[in-house]
Amino acid sequence: AKWVYGFGGGEADGGAGDRNLLGGKGANLAEMSGLGLPVPPGFTITTEVCTHYYANGHAYPEELDDQVDAALDRIGELTAKRFGDPARLLLVSVRSGARASMPGMMDTVLNLGLNDETVEALARDAGDRRFAYDSYRRFIQMYSNVVLGLEHEMFEEILEEEKARRGAEYDTELAAEDWARVTELYKAKVFEEMEKPFPQDPREQLWGAIGAVFSSWMNPRAITYRRLHDIPESWGTAVNVQAMVFGNMGDTSATGVAFTRNPSTGEKKLYGEFLVNAQGEDVVAGIRTPQNITEEARIGAGSDKPSLEKLMPEAFRDFVTIADRLEGHYRDMQDLEFTIERGRLWMLQTRSGKRTAKAALRIAVDMAGEGLIGQEEAVSRIEPGSLDQLLHPTIDPKAERDVIAIGLPASPGAATGEIVFSSDEAEELKAAGRRVILVRIETSPEDIHGMHAAEGILTTRGGMTSHAAVVARGMGKPCVSGAGQLRVDYRNQTLTAMGRTFNRGDVITIDGANGQVLAGQVAMLQPELSGDFAAIMEWADKIRRMKVRTNAETPADARTARSFGAEGIGLCRTEHMFFEDDRINVMREMILADTESGRRSALAKLLPMQRSDFSELFEIMAGLPVTIRLLDPPLHEFLPKSGKEISEVAAAIGVSPEKLRQRTEALHEANPMLGHRGCRLAVSYPEIAEMQARAIFEAAIEAGRKTGAPVEPEIMVPLVGIVKELDFVKARIDAVAKAVMEETGETIAYLVGTMIELPRAAIRAHEIAQAAEFFSFGTNDLTQTTFGISRDDAAAFMETYRQKGIVEADPFVTLDVEGVGELVRMAAEKGRATRPAIKLGICGEHGGDPASIRFCEEVGLDYVSCSPFRVPIARLAAAQAAV
Ligand code: PEP
Ligand code: MG
Repeated sequence: AKWVYGFGGGEADGGAGDRNLLGGKGANLAEMSGLGLPVPPGFTITTEVCTHYYANGHAYPEELDDQVDAALDRIGELTAKRFGDPARLLLVSVRSGARASMPGMMDTVLNLGLNDETVEALARDAGDRRFAYDSYRRFIQMYSNVVLGLEHEMFEEILEEEKARRGAEYDTELAAEDWARVTELYKAKVFEEMEKPFPQDPREQLWGAIGAVFSSWMNPRAITYRRLHDIPESWGTAVNVQAMVFGNMGDTSATGVAFTRNPSTGEKKLYGEFLVNAQGEDVVAGIRTPQNITEEARIGAGSDKPSLEKLMPEAFRDFVTIADRLEGHYRDMQDLEFTIERGRLWMLQTRSGKRTAKAALRIAVDMAGEGLIGQEEAVSRIEPGSLDQLLHPTIDPKAERDVIAIGLPASPGAATGEIVFSSDEAEELKAAGRRVILVRIETSPEDIHGMHAAEGILTTRGGMTSHAAVVARGMGKPCVSGAGQLRVDYRNQTLTAMGRTFNRGDVITIDGANGQVLAGQVAMLQPELSGDFAAIMEWADKIRRMKVRTNAETPADARTARSFGAEGIGLCRTEHMFFEDDRINVMREMILADTESGRRSALAKLLPMQRSDFSELFEIMAGLPVTIRLLDPPLHEFLPKSGKEISEVAAAIGVSPEKLRQRTEALHEANPMLGHRGCRLAVSYPEIAEMQARAIFEAAIEAGRKTGAPVEPEIMVPLVGIVKELDFVKARIDAVAKAVMEETGETIAYLVGTMIELPRAAIRAHEIAQAAEFFSFGTNDLTQTTFGISRDDAAAFMETYRQKGIVEADPFVTLDVEGVGELVRMAAEKGRATRPAIKLGICGEHGGDPASIRFCEEVGLDYVSCSPFRVPIARLAAAQAAV
């Protein structure tokens, strides 16, 4: 079998299409090489080797050794060098490369192949001993850290001591013999820690690094990352071995990263950063503040450090040409890594660039405009969940700003929260319902969980491509990076800014749009949903088949949802309306009444309140369909719980505390979710359903008069399992409709339907459809009752289920297509068989989940209904599901 794929010299064994086999990095290196771009020759050990490695007790396939040798020889031919041969020194880099880029794994070992002998060869080849020994000590440090597992800090300490001994402030003040000495000290340290010498044999080094890449696939950080991003373990990682090129061979050498368009705004301008005389990861690590690539960006940033355009115009021109070519070739914004070795440009990586949601929209819309892609493709390029970012608030331009520092605008959006200095603490406070800003000197993959928990991230070091910036953009979290005027003191838990000290717990605000850090809380504005957002939404609306409605009961939610493009209300949970202000007590009066007439008189008080609620919703929805669900929760949810509350409520509604307590006890249920709720209440107390139906019909007439548009309400009966339940309730609703029409002389068109949220309802759907004019799948309850897992208690163990691989996703978040979905599919078919024109929708939480929406399209539902802020996501997901 072929386990190793070579590239270089204008050729390659594979290409961009081989991502699964070669990983993202390897596939693109092969592609670039095949395009004839300057790529240092190398080879990729496939992801299948990783799979083999784990399936066979950490053993490699037999042929691997020979194939790696042959590939090394090929690099030697292309470079006129030879691995391990001091006379023709070839050094390599070793990098991991999964299908999807994955922080948390072993990243890179550079300068591999150096030892006590070859370091002299490097000094000779480069004509620079200082460079050679600096490279050697970097190699020992990196290798010891990622392959041997020794702490970075051990080596940093040695270096600091050496600098102090030499009276040097900067690394650059150390001479060749100083670095040689540091190298000796490093090796001694390794010996002390490992009880064996630092490996001198280049082949041993190489296999050590390859093994480290494969092992890192299973390290805890990588596992966490995969879990957060739904990356299957079975994918495995590839290993890329590539001839070294040096960005640190003096002032005509450099290394950098760039995006073909601005990853923050999407603007069509080459955007990037570089460092002169630096190696590989120096730019990303944020150790020195990098320089701009283009003159225009330099001027824009007000930087006095020269741009690449000025400093190395030839290499710059080559780079621009290649960047354009790659973007056109991939028809997407590219994220590039390059190195300039003594004036000569080498490409080290290209991949589709991570971008903010805002940039993604702009790039998709622009590229459609440029004719690079079509509208359908533009729509399919936007990750629906990412739209969430655009719905985040920004700082009100009129608000007072108490600016304490300015950093880089690393990821847009504004956030306010309490200062915390550690990721663990961010996570703890978030779990306690607090909002925090994670403040770090810089972040590393160990901070992923803290970044997730924080509202925003602030770092004092690092550029736009630093870890904090890249990860925050991916997460859609506001981030300000490299705020150099700030001093973070982890020990004392303080943040100092221009003489002012902020403590842990103090509130600050960050503005990811301009890099400002502000003291205290600042007024925010809701986002503007025009421009590119509107364009993509318009295209999505043309493509999608399903309608998108919202779950809303308050006028505010209904308005928000309409502004997000909701095409009606799919679920109005009327019980929420009973909790407002004084209504709850009228509701309690009703529950406490001993007779039907007592209940009716309390209900008569509720009627006008409900009527005005509905009337307002109808007006806001202006002729769009509105589904109103009859009372669903068990009645005891409206009664007070504690003794203190009982006496207060008893006084307020004028009954004895004793009576209230008795009633509360009588209504107590062992299993309320499976108890006296849903249509069962309407069967026991038809007068409640009657009041609600009357309120709906009267409001429909009222709103119809006001707006001039006839309102056709959809009345929904919850938790039906037996068709006779629905027959019973529907008869009451129809009777009320008739009465209201007679009283007013108006005709009202209306629909009566049911939720399908019990397995029995799905099984008997053909029968239920005789009475129901629509079905709305209540997949929250349907998931609960199908699994027999309480939706309120599932969270406690669902994560364990996920971790142990028992379920792939929480079924209360993403529809369980195989089980619950099968019931949905069956009920839809049976419903249609009885009543071909039956309206079908979904109103469980899954109605706003892109994967579940795909399934809804597949079974041909007419609409999905979701919470207001998910409406744009659902519109886009519905379009993507339709193509
Ligand atoms: C459902 O069960 O899916 C539903 C929408 O109703 P609720 O969440 O109110 O029970
Ligand atoms: Mg329900």
